[in-house]
Amino acid sequence: MTDRYAVIGNPIEQSKSPLIHTAFAQVTGQDIEYTKLLAPLGGFAQAVDAFRAAGGRGMNVTAPFKLDACAYATDLAPSAQMAGAVNAMKFDGDKVYAENFDGVGLVRDVVTNLGCSLRGRRVLILGAGGATRGALLPILAQAPAEVLIVNRTLAKAQALAELARQHQTDAVPVRGAGYADLGTQSFDLVFNATSASLSAELPPVPVSVFAQGALAYELAYGKGLTPFLKLAQQAGVTHLADGVGMLAEQAAEAFAWWRGVRPDTQGVIQQLTVPLV
Ligand code: NDP
Repeated sequence: MTDRYAVIGNPIEQSKSPLIHTAFAQVTGQDIEYTKLLAPLGGFAQAVDAFRAAGGRGMNVTAPFKLDACAYATDLAPSAQMAGAVNAMKFDGDKVYAENFDGVGLVRDVVTNLGCSLRGRRVLILGAGGATRGALLPILAQAPAEVLIVNRTLAKAQALAELARQHQTDAVPVRGAGYADLGTQSFDLVFNATSASLSAELPPVPVSVFAQGALAYELAYGKGLTPFLKLAQQAGVTHLADGVGMLAEQAAEAFAWWRGVRPDTQGVIQQLTVPLV
């Protein structure tokens, strides 16, 4: 029998998840149906209840329901607790298992797809929103030399650094700061985890943040050369990436969690890649 999955959000039309999971099902020979589910604002629980009652096995969760999914879950994985957000759920009787695979997807893209180790490297993360919350523990688990979180709202960067210090098992130095504190410090990996690129804006980051041989990683995807990537290019950075690989890898983690088989992501990444020009 065909097992049913869906991505739930509002709006939902833009979601690439059905395309990705349908491709994964084809390459792994899994018999699943994966659809988009538009839930009304305030109607998350009822929509998920109905999907489960109709035999649904699991869901991805996108904006604005990632917090609702935290409250809905019966078993929240540490990744979702730290992120304060859920992006995948698995249903088993009365149990609702909930995960957040964004961070592990990001790290897998950087380390495996882009061949860029984090171990012993200096890492700068711009932004202190949901994506940074999800990415922090998986990044720290790679044992970088240090992680600096910089945010427009300083208090959010500092609170997140404190949270990471409490949760991490390794003793990686983690600090929170404002853009003005960056000075002339430079970093081996610079992640733009702000949403500035979604409105073609540039966070106020100095061009000096990119160390020689740095990776500049834009978490947004499908936007081509964003202002952040342009800045990196002007600084002489040749290793540029956007978040398409992160998107594919977090989906592959969810697929493996649901189906017990990990799909190859290269086909999906190629299909969704927008050239960085
Ligand atoms: P949030 O809304 O949770 O956080 C947004 C962050 O961006 C905040 O830290 C905010 O600062 C900062 N910000 C917004 N505009 C500006 C600006 N003009 N200058 C400087 N800082 C700014 O967003 P998310 O964390 O969910 O998403 C962040 C990015 O990551 C988005 O581009 C999103 O598309 C991408 N993403 C990619 C994924 C993938 O699979 N590739 C998955 C998840 C996210 P402040 O706190 O001061 O308001």
